[in-house]
Amino acid sequence: MKIAVLPGDGIGPEIVAQAAKVLEVLRSDGLKIEMEYAHLGGAGYDAEGDPFPATTERLALASDAVLLGAVGGYQYDTLPRPKRPEQGLLRIRKGLGLFANLRPALVYPELVNASTLKPELVSGLDIMILRELTGDIYFGQPRGIRTLDNGERQGFDTMLYSESEIRRVAHVGFKIAMKRNKKMCSVDKANVLDTSMFWREIVTDVAKEYPQVELSHMYVDNAAMQLVRAPKQFDVILTGNIFGDILSDEASMLTGSIGMLPSASLDENNKGLYEPCHGSAPDIAGKDIANPLATILSVAMMMRYTFAHEDIAQRIEAAVRKTLQQGLRTGDIAEAGKQKIGTAAMGDAVVAAL
Ligand code: NAD
Repeated sequence: MKIAVLPGDGIGPEIVAQAAKVLEVLRSDGLKIEMEYAHLGGAGYDAEGDPFPATTERLALASDAVLLGAVGGYQYDTLPRPKRPEQGLLRIRKGLGLFANLRPALVYPELVNASTLKPELVSGLDIMILRELTGDIYFGQPRGIRTLDNGERQGFDTMLYSESEIRRVAHVGFKIAMKRNKKMCSVDKANVLDTSMFWREIVTDVAKEYPQVELSHMYVDNAAMQLVRAPKQFDVILTGNIFGDILSDEASMLTGSIGMLPSASLDENNKGLYEPCHGSAPDIAGKDIANPLATILSVAMMMRYTFAHEDIAQRIEAAVRKTLQQGLRTGDIAEAGKQKIGTAAMGDAVVAAL
């Protein structure tokens, strides 16, 4: 298991250090894990003048999986766009062909009161959002700002999906649904958009290969409403890049705690980049107060999806549950009566539970 470790910026190095402790435990248990570190984002710019340095690219391409902290920081806001940390993230995703973005929204019983929704609506919630990551209106050409003959200026983008792009992400969705409750809802805007009509046609066709999975379709406006009305109706949600961007953020807030949410971005061969859903949190960097659990849970996803070690994934998740059951909390998920601990102490607690 060759893992490229990219701590990145802000709280990145602190939270990745805790995830690395977990990997060390697994290594001492006999897993053949190799970790190699490199720079990404602002750290890449500082060290090598590029947010995605060539050394990092070579390492990422040669590895089976990438573990990433987060990128970004106020000090980089005035750099020209190609030098900004976020460009490093976009380039590594594209460079590795990571088209399938998986974001679980899971409510832990211990944290049910952290959600802004009523406990009975979210208790037991376990949704997987699968967002296509390399196509759609975010990448379609042509795009730009132009001046019409009458002198009026106009902004425009192009929404498009090719059949192969839809098919490959649909297959990922059905395979995930097969391992869960065998229910998948494909979200589109087929009542208005031709791209969505085509999306629906292809997803329906791919579904023939997975007769055990119950496929439904929903318009994105309705899905946005249903996610806060009755979120437990969903199991796997499959959707395109722009709808997935919005819905996955909405779903993440159902759980109430951004510091708990892992993510995976996969290529065709299940090589993946694993990172917490949150950013580099420069406001709390270096204070040993960030929640490292999203990053640790990203390692669990890595074991599940890239290395096909479901048992180890569950072991890590159980260790996280145990620390929560023990009443240990970082500041972002703290409640009265629970013991508030720092980043490193939380990492140690998970290691002890493991
Ligand atoms: P953010 O997710 O970094 O922070 C939002 C809020 O959540 C902040 O108050 C922060 O303190 C808190 N928070 C985030 N992670 C936490 C954790 N693990 N534990 C406790 N609290 C946590 O979003 P932002 O403030 O909008 O962005 C900050 C920087 O991160 C920007 O430069 C942005 O571009 C970048 N960013 C990077 C990624 C990424 O690397 N994937 C994603 C989003 C934002």
